Amino acid sequence: MTTRTAAPTANYLRLSSALAMVTDAMSRALQGSVFSFRRETRVSDADADALRGAIDRALPLLDFKFTDPRRQLPKTLGTRLRNFRKMLTQMRDAPNGEALSSVIQGMRGKTTDAWQKFLEYRDEALAIVNALDEEDLDAYEVGPYTVQTFNTGRGDWDADKYGAVRHVLRMGEKLLSQHGLGRFTGGAVLAYPTKYLPPSAGAGGSVLAMYRRGDDIMWLAVGGGNPQRILQSFIHETGHRIYWRFLGTRGRAAWEAYFEGDTGTPDVDAVIKAWEAWAARGDVRYGRTLGHWLLHLKNSGQDDLLMWTEIIASKAAVEENLDPYGGAPKRGEVPALDQVIAKRSEIRSFLTPVTAYSATEAGELFAEAFAHYIVDGPSRLHPKLRAELREVLPIMKVGSSPLSLRRDYGASDADDALADAWGR
Ligand SMILES: [Zn+2]
Repeated sequence: MTTRTAAPTANYLRLSSALAMVTDAMSRALQGSVFSFRRETRVSDADADALRGAIDRALPLLDFKFTDPRRQLPKTLGTRLRNFRKMLTQMRDAPNGEALSSVIQGMRGKTTDAWQKFLEYRDEALAIVNALDEEDLDAYEVGPYTVQTFNTGRGDWDADKYGAVRHVLRMGEKLLSQHGLGRFTGGAVLAYPTKYLPPSAGAGGSVLAMYRRGDDIMWLAVGGGNPQRILQSFIHETGHRIYWRFLGTRGRAAWEAYFEGDTGTPDVDAVIKAWEAWAARGDVRYGRTLGHWLLHLKNSGQDDLLMWTEIIASKAAVEENLDPYGGAPKRGEVPALDQVIAKRSEIRSFLTPVTAYSATEAGELFAEAFAHYIVDGPSRLHPKLRAELREVLPIMKVGSSPLSLRRDYGASDADDALADAWGR
């Protein structure tokens, strides 16, 4: 496979300048109402005219046709584009400012409005054209998944990245099928050659994968060079997909009840004791700081202690300012360990997490538990968490090896032994 440059094509430039004009006209028309909490939108007739003109120029460019009739846009993307055209047509057809105001008003939802919707559609349309215009960048199938590769101009597609997509989707499908979850495989995947998903995906920060509930699309960034981590993220997101699409209201209610109900006082003293002991060692510098302690736990592979330290530190609202170069704490600052000790009796948290992140919210708990169950095997999960997961997803099997496929989803002997070893 060849490496391609990410130069924007003529079609892309045409569409992006047409959409930039719509963006300007729309933001002028909405003026104050875009960024304020004012519920009312009042568009002047002149602004409505300008917006109409801009939309008229952009609309024909949004009707994509492949030169090769065998090529097709993945269905979900086709629907999104159609909705975008519908939205623009509706605004264009409003005869004056007053009519346009009420059209825009009508697009307001609980968590979104006409402006937000427009920006989302616009970025997506540009990304699609950018990808489709590259002759080699095509939608293709990997097992049950339809993959659309996206070119962001910041990274490029090469054999390694195509390989990463293949690895993640093939392994993902295999693992899910082995666990009796073949029905949850497949669907549309948007793949990016970058290390992380771009901000236009709506994901903040360093995100490798994302599931968008509104249109049931999975996003994947494969440029980071660690397919195993991407796989873990992919399965985590598949967990979100299952949570929202297949668990049902009752399953979700049961899961939320578990998350809310299993709250109490974690073993703060155990963390403090281990931390104190390490900090007291002669060869340890700044041992009472959170940053150095977490790094030590990470490096020494003490996952459980690491998880509980993170949870407890966040519940104790630990604040820490370390010198970015030497890692020294600021003068006069109360060390993190002492902050935890001061709050030891107040700390409450979810009691059967699988990662620190899983203790933050019911949906994340499900996705994290699911990902660890599927990728690392059930023994990573606290027995209670494992039981709850099987309860809401009874078709899930224990199945990382051919042998374990024969056991149904009842706990194996090995699981029980681990459960005992776990204690709580
Ligand atoms: Zn998540």
